[in-house]
Amino acid sequence: MPYDVVVVGAGIVGTSIARELSKYGISIALVDKEPDFGWGATKANSAIVHAGYDDEPHTLKSHLCARGNALFEKLCMEVDAPFERNGSLVVAFDSEDEKRVEELYERGLKNCVPMLRVIEKRELLEREPNINEEARCALFAPSAAITIPYELTIGLAENAIANGVEVFLDTKVIGAEEKEEKVTLITDKGRIESSYVVNAAGLYADEISKLFGYDGFSVTPRRGEYFLFDKKFRPLVNSTIFPAPTEKGKGILVAKTCEDIMLIGPNSRDLKAEEKENTETTQEGLREVFDGAKKLVPDIEKARRHVIKNFAGNRPQSSTKDFIIEQKERLINVAGMQSPGLTAAPAIAEYVAEMLKYNMSMKKKESFNPIRKRIRAFREMSNEERKKAIKEEPLYGHIVCRCEYVSEAEIVEAIKRGARTLDGVKFRTRCSMGRCQGGFDLPFVVEIISRETGMSAKEILKNSKGSEVIKAYNKELLKEEK
Ligand SMILES: Cc1cc2nc3c(=O)[nH]c(=O)nc-3n(C[C@H](O)[C@H](O)[C@H](O)COP(=O)(O)OP(=O)(O)OC[C@H]3O[C@@H](n4cnc5c(N)ncnc54)[C@H](O)[C@@H]3O)c2cc1C
Repeated sequence: MPYDVVVVGAGIVGTSIARELSKYGISIALVDKEPDFGWGATKANSAIVHAGYDDEPHTLKSHLCARGNALFEKLCMEVDAPFERNGSLVVAFDSEDEKRVEELYERGLKNCVPMLRVIEKRELLEREPNINEEARCALFAPSAAITIPYELTIGLAENAIANGVEVFLDTKVIGAEEKEEKVTLITDKGRIESSYVVNAAGLYADEISKLFGYDGFSVTPRRGEYFLFDKKFRPLVNSTIFPAPTEKGKGILVAKTCEDIMLIGPNSRDLKAEEKENTETTQEGLREVFDGAKKLVPDIEKARRHVIKNFAGNRPQSSTKDFIIEQKERLINVAGMQSPGLTAAPAIAEYVAEMLKYNMSMKKKESFNPIRKRIRAFREMSNEERKKAIKEEPLYGHIVCRCEYVSEAEIVEAIKRGARTLDGVKFRTRCSMGRCQGGFDLPFVVEIISRETGMSAKEILKNSKGSEVIKAYNKELLKEEK
């Protein structure tokens, strides 16, 4: 039977749309080329739920960012994803910056951003004692927040599945045919038929659109690099701190994450269209990030030894510079989702549902259940709760990840919920996210995935195709392979 709607792309935008559509009595499929949810731009970004003062009024970005911010907290509560409204500050160091701050304030008022105000140096230093003392004033947006995008994406996907959405992972869309009342997506695993296709394919949204014969826009990667610090080094900021923006974007920020870890970045580098998968970090780029962050918070220098990871993400930048949400016959393009695409995702999902209502009958279903629970984390339990958990499930008593205190029970639960790769386990449990970055726990996780799924250890991937982690088990096998 054909689906009513197939969503291509299971990042934050695609899963938000699939979950929103699952409120209605229609059949929906969600397709992604990767073996898990949220492995595109969604897994590597600043994780800020923006207040909405950055974008030009009357653009899709400004409208959907403000609405997305308003919807975000409830959504995170429903699917049990992290959310903290800790505010943001745009700091001015000279008169040019002060002008930019004033402009952003005016723009924020036009975009209906609540509680926005410009604060003087004294209040800024009270709020952020580690800020550079040369700061003059700042734009304070109390409605800005932080989340964990991959956790939210997994939560939305699980909730969508519980409400009837069918998921096809590891399934790449390579062609499309439109005939009469029907669209056929051709994938590397077979054909999927539907009445409508929503194209939320991130960096590849232009290529999916071309499969349908529409080439009105292009999407190019704009890379941003980051440093993440050890959780033992307390974040030097309470809210998200931005410099005054430039034509290249919002600038290098200093932020604390929902796990109370410090994050700095991103810089902004345009890559060639064919470099969509290039998320390498560079010495030059990382230096730029460190210097940019130091200008805001000079004590970052003390944190240098506490870096545990650097990484990069590619923004899907559209040739129109705004979000593209448009209908072309039976295709709805949802493209160019660069920042604030994460913030706007809940609003984008509402918008797409409203568009589809013009095309087919969509009645709300009474059986929709908005609630999903994340995996119970051993590290968050009290000692009493831990004793009880171990009594009920002895695997809680085996700590696999010593940095993040993740038990075997959590890893087994992640696998039951669909994780088949090391990153799949990592993004559901935080196993391997600490200081050792998997150096200690990786062999155990491979063994557990293999035991629980029957996969051979050599088949287990870190993440995408070609990222096998085990070449052979012992010297004999190595010899055999030679
Ligand atoms: C450096 C950086 C910082 C950012 N900071 C913020 C921020 O702080 N706040 C904010 O609001 N936004 C931020 N953003 C923007 C935000 O990350 C994106 O807008 C958002 O993640 C886009 O989500 P998406 O679902 O559209 O794309 P993606 O997450 O890229 O998902 C697209 C999916 O489509 C799949 N796909 C592609 N081609 C095919 C195919 N042929 N067949 C099947 N599947 C396919 C991919 O595998 C992928 O999973 C930032 C982005 C970057 C890169």
